[in-house]
This record gives sequence, C-alpha cells and structure tokens, in this order.
Amino acid sequence: MAGHQVSFTGRNITVAGLGVSGVSAARALAGLGARVTVVDGGAGEALRERAATLEAEGIAVRLGTDPISGRSAGHTLPEGTDLVVTSPGWKPDSPLFAAAAEAGVEVIGDVEVAWRLRGENAAPWLAVTGTNGKTTTVQMLASILRAAGLRTAAVGNIGTPIIDVVTGDEPYDVLAVELSSYQLHWAPSVRPHSAVVLNLAPDHLDWHGSMAAYAADKGRVYEGNQVACVYNTADPRTEHLVREADVEEGCRAIGFTLGAPAVSELGVVEGLLVDRAFVPDRQKNAQELAEVADITPAAPHNIANALAAAALARAFGVGPAAVREGLRAFTPDAHRIAHVADVDGVAYVDDSKATNTHAAEASLAAYESIVWIAGGLAKGATFDELVTRSAKRLRGVVLMGADRALIGEALARHAPDVPVVDLDRTDTGAMAAAVREAARLAGPGDTVLMAPACASMDMFVNYNQRGEAFAEAVRALAEQDRAADE
Ligand code: ADP
Repeated sequence: MAGHQVSFTGRNITVAGLGVSGVSAARALAGLGARVTVVDGGAGEALRERAATLEAEGIAVRLGTDPISGRSAGHTLPEGTDLVVTSPGWKPDSPLFAAAAEAGVEVIGDVEVAWRLRGENAAPWLAVTGTNGKTTTVQMLASILRAAGLRTAAVGNIGTPIIDVVTGDEPYDVLAVELSSYQLHWAPSVRPHSAVVLNLAPDHLDWHGSMAAYAADKGRVYEGNQVACVYNTADPRTEHLVREADVEEGCRAIGFTLGAPAVSELGVVEGLLVDRAFVPDRQKNAQELAEVADITPAAPHNIANALAAAALARAFGVGPAAVREGLRAFTPDAHRIAHVADVDGVAYVDDSKATNTHAAEASLAAYESIVWIAGGLAKGATFDELVTRSAKRLRGVVLMGADRALIGEALARHAPDVPVVDLDRTDTGAMAAAVREAARLAGPGDTVLMAPACASMDMFVNYNQRGEAFAEAVRALAEQDRAADE
C-alpha cells in the first residue's frame, strides 16, 4: 500500500521545536506551500541564529517567553493553526498539545509527515523499535539490504531526517527505519512492510506516563504490517504486542531466539544463525544464514540484534548470502561495547551508550569476570534487578556520578562481598581516577566494563564525551604501563 499522500498546501501548520527534526519539517512543509510557524520556549543564541535563517526563508518563528503575558512560545498555539507537527522530545502532556486538543487540531510527528509525503511507488519501510538495540539493528539491516544490491538508507531516529529522505531526489528500494516510542506515539497512520520490537523494559516512563502507555506506543509499529511482525521469544511482551496488532491479511508472526529455532523462528544452532521461517517446507528445513563469528561484537544481545535484522531482510526477500555479507560488513557505532585496549591482561571496554539498566544488564551478561564502572543520572531507575542478575560476574565496582548511591545501596543489599570504590568527585579528572581504581581491582582475564546504566549529563555533555574520557584514560594507563616495562 502506498502512503496516502495528503496535501499540506495552504494549511496553517505549527511546528513544535526548533531542533533538527523541526527545521526539516518546517522547510519541507513550507516548500509544499504551507504557512508554517515554528514555536520553541528556548531563546539561546544557537536557536536565534537558526530562527533568523528560517525567517529569511519565509517561515515564522516564535521563541522564548512573551514579556507581557509571561507565556512560553512553546506553550502557545498560534491563532489559526490547523495542524501541529511535533518534534520527538516534546512530552505528550505539553500545554501546546492540550491547547491543540481543545481547539480540535490534530497533532502529528515528523515520521507521520514523512509517511504522508511518500509518493505512490515509494520505498516500503522495514521498521525497528525497542528499548535497546534500535540503532545497531537498523544499521545491520541497512548493511544486509545493501549487500543484497538494494538502494537503502538507515533513517528515522538516526541519520538524515526522514522527511528529507522521503522528499529527496535519491531513489530507494526500501528504507531501514528506526522509530523511537516518541515517534510512534505521533505516527497514527504509518504502515511498515514488516517490523520488529526488539525488547521492552521500563524507560522514558516520565514521558509516556506508564509502562502500559509506553508498550502501546511501541506496539504501534506492528499496525498494518504486510509480511512479518518480528518479535523476541525471550520477551513475551513483544509477542503480546504482535497479537494485539491489526495487520494485513497473510502477515506472519516471526520469532527470534538465541536458542534453537522452532518453526517460524530464526535462532542459533551450534554457532550458526539459522532461519526456520522464510524457507520452503519449514517443518523439516532450516537455512543457514551466517556464523555467530560474523557478528561484531558477538555478545548475546548483539546476536539477537543480528537475528532481528536478518528476519526483516528475509521478510523482504533477501537471500542468505547477502545476510552473511551484510553482517560481516557491519561495524558498530562508537561507544557500544567498543574494545579500547588490553593492559596487563585486562580488557577495557567502552559501553558508554548503556544509559539504562536494561542495556547495562545485556552488556554485563557478555563477560564472565568484570570490574564495572557505573553511575551517572538514574532517570528514576532502580538497580536491584540489575545487580541481582549480574552479581556473580562482578569482581569489583567503581561508582561515580550523581546517583551512584542508588547503585551502591543495591550492591550492599545483593552483592555485599563485591568490593566497591565510591568515587566522590565530578571534576574532569574523575574518569581517569575511575579507570585507575578499576585497574587496581582487576586481575588478568578480567574485563573493565564502563556500562554506566545511567545517563551522562551530570558530568559530561553526552555519552560520546563520557566514552571519549574513558578511552583517553585507558590509553594513558596503557602508556604508563609501557613506560614502566621499559
Ligand atoms: P538504541 O538505538 O535503542 O539506543 P543502540 O543500538 O544504540 O540502541 O544500543 C544502545 C546500548 O544498548 C548498547 O550500547 C548496549 O549496551 C545495549 N543493547 C544493544 N542491543 C541490545 C539488546 N538487544 N538488548 C539489550 N541491550 C542492548
């Protein structure tokens, strides 16, 4: 089904948020002849510069707080608005949306705009969502599709704004689309060819209000699927979402598992990724797709990501050789289980992107004997489950950051024998100190794993900077070690 192209021409559209996706939406809609006003409560220099550029293109921008009424521009629905296009970060309970609801004005997100702008013969979407692993899986999928000779791009929550890709001149055969729960919340008519929910763990609950609301938004990705709804057999909530979805006639439910696959599943047998879903006579047959060793890093959660990507590619008709080639060609983005160096027989691994407990748990499950560097902003999370499940692998822990006491308390409750260093400093040298403490706790064969289970913004600009700080500290340690040996 080609998307239903809806004319935005002549409409009075308010775009919420002057970020990357807001700018892309504003330009695309103004280019179609809509009258666009962008609203944003911020008024910093970068925003003002961006606003000036858009205004020069004929797009109205309202920033900051009105000095007379005291109201934020981001909370005020401009007179005459007949459609609101929101950016992903905006909370659903924002006063702007309440005003829109009161005025009977529809609110949609950038992904919905992109969907409505697709032409008649537009490239189908293979969609990926989940609490963790989205970016990795979408990139693996794009790599496989490329290996099959298909024109594709990884878009959505990553890369070029999806509106720009859909309205650009470059032709595509299929798109690998990463969708966050925020984007799905505001995308009522998106109908992917096939889709996966990788996993579901509590995250962003402050945005969605409840786990049920979060799950329901994730589950939207299965709506209208035509060929396959792919789910994680280890996470029954994902299968439940498939059952709830309204799909096209003939669409199949396909599971992925780290164990041997049942019929209509992809799984792992003796170090091989195998397909028992998209093969003839699947009662008896299975098709080898790749070796576990083809996947970097071959951590369990990453094998799961590879199976999910392979399932979507197979649903699109990609052959087994391209799956293997695509997985081999894939390299993960920085700060996702990146091996930095070995020093004195200890491996140092940067998983700064493990910003929630579910991600950190997957990361900790990938190693046997670990000195764990953790802490930062907990975002309302609790650590009891994570610590209980990972305790037997912990050789030591170095805690840092604003909410480190929460992790410290969970360790005291569930792993009282594990030595813990509490690093009470947040200066620029703190990460180097953490690495030195971890080195002291570690022995040959151990892994020092920085998988903080927390956001980074208490001490760093973002998880990238936190990862860089770790890598730099490890390199300094290696350098010292070399100097001492000479
Ligand atoms: P997302 O785009 O969903 O944030 P990424 O692919 O960027 O996901 O991975 C983020 C982090 O989540 C990784 O660094 C790793 O710690 C963890 N992770 C990746 N895949 C999975 C998975 N399938 N299950 C659990 N955790 C995962």
